[in-house]
Amino acid sequence: MRVIRNPRKLNRILERTSGNRKNIGLVPTMGALHLGHLSLIKQARRENNTVVVSIFVNPAQFGAGEDLKKYPRPLNRDLALCRAAGVDFVFLPNAKIIYPRGYSTFVNVEGLSNLLCGAARPGHFRGVATIVAKLLNIIGPSVLYLGQKDAQQAIIIKRMVEDLNFPVKVKIMPIVRQKDGLALSSRNVYLNKKQRFDALVLSKALSLAKSLFKAGVRDSSRIINRMRQLINRKKQAKIDYLAIVDLEKLEKIKKIDRNCLVALAVKFGNTRLIDNTVINYA
Ligand code: AMP
Repeated sequence: MRVIRNPRKLNRILERTSGNRKNIGLVPTMGALHLGHLSLIKQARRENNTVVVSIFVNPAQFGAGEDLKKYPRPLNRDLALCRAAGVDFVFLPNAKIIYPRGYSTFVNVEGLSNLLCGAARPGHFRGVATIVAKLLNIIGPSVLYLGQKDAQQAIIIKRMVEDLNFPVKVKIMPIVRQKDGLALSSRNVYLNKKQRFDALVLSKALSLAKSLFKAGVRDSSRIINRMRQLINRKKQAKIDYLAIVDLEKLEKIKKIDRNCLVALAVKFGNTRLIDNTVINYA
């Protein structure tokens, strides 16, 4: 496994190793790797000759007052996990090389970027789309692996790939959870014991939505109200949003009459957690 910090160098090496018959899988991450990331990496390993994992805590996707500085960066552990998972290249740039002085080009996926998480985190998805576009240009993967955990991000990146004609296939991998239901996230380490326990209410609320649907409820606001009641039983939980939306435009659905995404963001203290599930209508 090689660790490469320079975009030009990585680009040169990948062009040389893969030639015309490109078969490169890319897994973009911010590090602090867990089994969620590893499921993406393993899938990439199964399906490609060359696997590249990027580790970059992207300043452009953090807002003022967010956790950019304290975001966990257990680099040695991350590298060991990548090595053990059979990764070929870890791309480990710093912010200066990605956004040098004078940097002024950003990718904005309009509309989608202002909804759900985008409403509470202005500029976040502009930062995400920009770094992913840069990674696609630097690495030139044939397949890009993303997690369903960040459902809105996956939808936005798919849109960008289509709109800007990036020659890459996007694969979305299912959410990996702990045994008790909590979706794995690098931010879970911020939770104290009580918050960690209370956070189980998120996956429970999503299961509740599914069982209400199974029981025949189609009215989104009824489902959302029941989810809200459940989450609000936890004193520390502050709901940012609960939404039932369509899978492409992220538009709110009033009556469930097609596949949809049930998505939520809830804060426990300063820690904002997101989770989601898909309801299959058919
Ligand atoms: P991050 O390091 O948080 O930017 O995540 C990097 C990639 O891993 C993104 O595509 C995430 O959606 C994905 N990911 C994060 N957590 C999980 C999880 N629990 N299950 C599946 N994929 C995940």
